[in-house]
Amino acid sequence: MKTKSLHNKLVEWRHDLHMNPQISFEEEYASNKVANLLKEFGIVVHPGIAKTGVVGVLKKGKGNKSIGIRADIDALPINEKNTFSYKSKIENRMHACGHDGHTTMLLGAAKYLAENSNFDGTIYFIFQPDEENCFGAKTMIEEGLFSNFSIDEVYAMHNIPNMELGSFGTRKGAITASENLFEINIQAKGGHAALPHMGVDAITVGSQVAIALQSIVSRKLNPADNGIVSITEFITDGKKNVLPGKVKITGDARALSKTTNEMIEKNMKQIVKGVCEAHEVSYDVTYKTSCPITLNDSEQAESATKAAKSLLGEKKTNGNIEPRLFSEDFSIMSAEKPGCFVLMGNGTKGSNAKPLHAADYDFNDELLVIGSSYWVELAEQQLK
Ligand SMILES: [Zn+2]
Ligand SMILES: [Zn+2]
Repeated sequence: MKTKSLHNKLVEWRHDLHMNPQISFEEEYASNKVANLLKEFGIVVHPGIAKTGVVGVLKKGKGNKSIGIRADIDALPINEKNTFSYKSKIENRMHACGHDGHTTMLLGAAKYLAENSNFDGTIYFIFQPDEENCFGAKTMIEEGLFSNFSIDEVYAMHNIPNMELGSFGTRKGAITASENLFEINIQAKGGHAALPHMGVDAITVGSQVAIALQSIVSRKLNPADNGIVSITEFITDGKKNVLPGKVKITGDARALSKTTNEMIEKNMKQIVKGVCEAHEVSYDVTYKTSCPITLNDSEQAESATKAAKSLLGEKKTNGNIEPRLFSEDFSIMSAEKPGCFVLMGNGTKGSNAKPLHAADYDFNDELLVIGSSYWVELAEQQLK
């Protein structure tokens, strides 16, 4: 592994980032650390793109080919439950998605590539804020990421807990799902708890909607396709002895294709209409895509897989991995430029195997050298 000698440094950087997590465009600590380190490596630094976003530009030789590699720098509003020495110093803030590791791996690759000249062209190191709310990539693009910098293709990585440490996966086409937030408001007619026949109980109507929505994935979606409909809130204005007149149902639907997403939306609207009409109550439904599907281009998926095979061998490389139902705002970058999103195993033990966004999850330090060496391999391969 090319970045092996950086191991201790990478662990130190990652732990420092882990102790100082910040969220959505507030990531000053990570942003300053990244900018200072890139400068120290002799890389040209462009800070302040989308507030805390940073782009480092490293050019060698005379070639005019270029590659962009993106890492996300934001944390989550979660109270960390881990008890190790480098746990979060900030209440209700935690690197529970491993973006501290993603940032560190890209920094490691930047240091190595700045010190070694085995490529000909330009590498753009993209450090992006606010991945979790899906505004970071979009804002960086609005503030000139692709108009001010000439980036031919883009790549990004996510660690996957409970997947063999350092094993690699990607695929052509959809690799992560779209996120679609919905809200259903039902306006019934409340009343006295002892006189239900005088009103229309919103809970009875809302519950029928909630149960019926579960039939979309189980009975409407082709079992060979993937989709999710999750109701996450059910709020009424009822009291102990007062039937509610209103119910608000919110939730999150995921889909791996446009057709599936349209099918979920259409059926949801139809079910709400049918149930509400049966009870003669009014309603409205909003269904909004907050994060699109990440689509990998064939050529970039092949390049990403080729680099993994050279670094990790056939056995640890899967060029046709199962897509994931989480969503990822790198989708917005790869919709503008040819790109590929890759996955790497975070290990199968202890906190490294806990799900992303769990309060006892942790990024695996043993992945730092592997992941940063992967970026080096890919950059050198693409800019030969
Ligand atoms: Zn996350
Ligand atoms: Zn993440």
